[in-house]
Amino acid sequence: MSDLYSILGVQKGASQDEVKKSYRRLANKYHPDKTKGDKAKEEKFKEVQKAYEVLSDPQKRQQYDAFGSQGGPGMGGGMGFDPRDFAQNFGGAEAFSDIFEAFFGGGSQRGRSKSTKSQSIPGEDIRISLKIDFLDSVFGKEARINLKRIVKCESCGGSGAEKGSKIVTCQNCKGQGTIKEVRQTLLGQMVASKVCHVCNGEGKVPEKRCSKCNGHKRHSVNQEITVKIPAGIKSGSSIRLKGKGNEGIQSLDGDLYVQIVVEDSKKFIRQDYDIYTKCNISVIQAVLGDEIQIETVHGLETIEIPPGSEHGKQIILKGLGVPVLGQKDKRGNHIVVLQIDIPKKISKKERGLYLELAKESGLEIKPGKSGLLW
Ligand SMILES: [Zn+2]
Ligand SMILES: [Zn+2]
Repeated sequence: MSDLYSILGVQKGASQDEVKKSYRRLANKYHPDKTKGDKAKEEKFKEVQKAYEVLSDPQKRQQYDAFGSQGGPGMGGGMGFDPRDFAQNFGGAEAFSDIFEAFFGGGSQRGRSKSTKSQSIPGEDIRISLKIDFLDSVFGKEARINLKRIVKCESCGGSGAEKGSKIVTCQNCKGQGTIKEVRQTLLGQMVASKVCHVCNGEGKVPEKRCSKCNGHKRHSVNQEITVKIPAGIKSGSSIRLKGKGNEGIQSLDGDLYVQIVVEDSKKFIRQDYDIYTKCNISVIQAVLGDEIQIETVHGLETIEIPPGSEHGKQIILKGLGVPVLGQKDKRGNHIVVLQIDIPKKISKKERGLYLELAKESGLEIKPGKSGLLW
């Protein structure tokens, strides 16, 4: 396969306008309407389409330029191009895929892969989010969730046919799986083909549809699913339950992704695997030191405030934080941050004691202009 630029007959630096012009000219020249039956020209037409699909899309073009031409417009292969991407990314792609199906429909790879594909239904992934309590995120738990899933119809076993009913040729498309449709496009009148909506492209339908799934092969159910939430899970992380998404028909079942949202705690602040709490102490405790009880996620703990503790001092309780995900016996720390409360109001007696303290430490306290102290 030659280089995409030479297929379109343009220079490598050609503008998008030149690419478009050249494409139109060539698409016209090799249009199957004019080259009826000429296989070589059919191939050429396909090549031109594919080259245009890449070069008309700045992103694809850039990718192509970067990776060179060894992959050729065969795409699908080493270049990471998937023709299906084009249909999604490329403006007006619908028209082109229709062209492909119209002229090369039954025989082209695209047409074939489509009809085989439609017989199988891939199981879709399901994504949900689950709010859990702060402590549940620390210790883990088994959560039960109600989930709407699409499962294979147990009544027809996924065939879509009522028990005992035969599978017959679809009358709507006469077994072709596609319906031809004439439409006007910029290249003139085109025959486009659409997937037959009666048989979904299979060309075959059950004589009588399964009454449970109405021939859809699957139906939705409400199921209760147990999700094991591991200890130490962080907010925002997802748990994947393989095969618990929607069930596929002749294809893999989808997965279920449960995104965990951890509710904030009123008492604890988590940072990584450490837990922080604030602890308010009095000036007296800060000066004299004390032994107090604080709450950790693992229960009450006695800690010692050393004499002369400053505001903001951190006391670290090793291993009393959050279990490290997937590492048994390893836990973060609990960190107590001391907050010294300065009393706003003191009694007369307290004032006296403070003044005595001031005298003791050689401080001469002045009443100030407002005289509030006295
Ligand atoms: Zn059924
Ligand atoms: Zn049909």
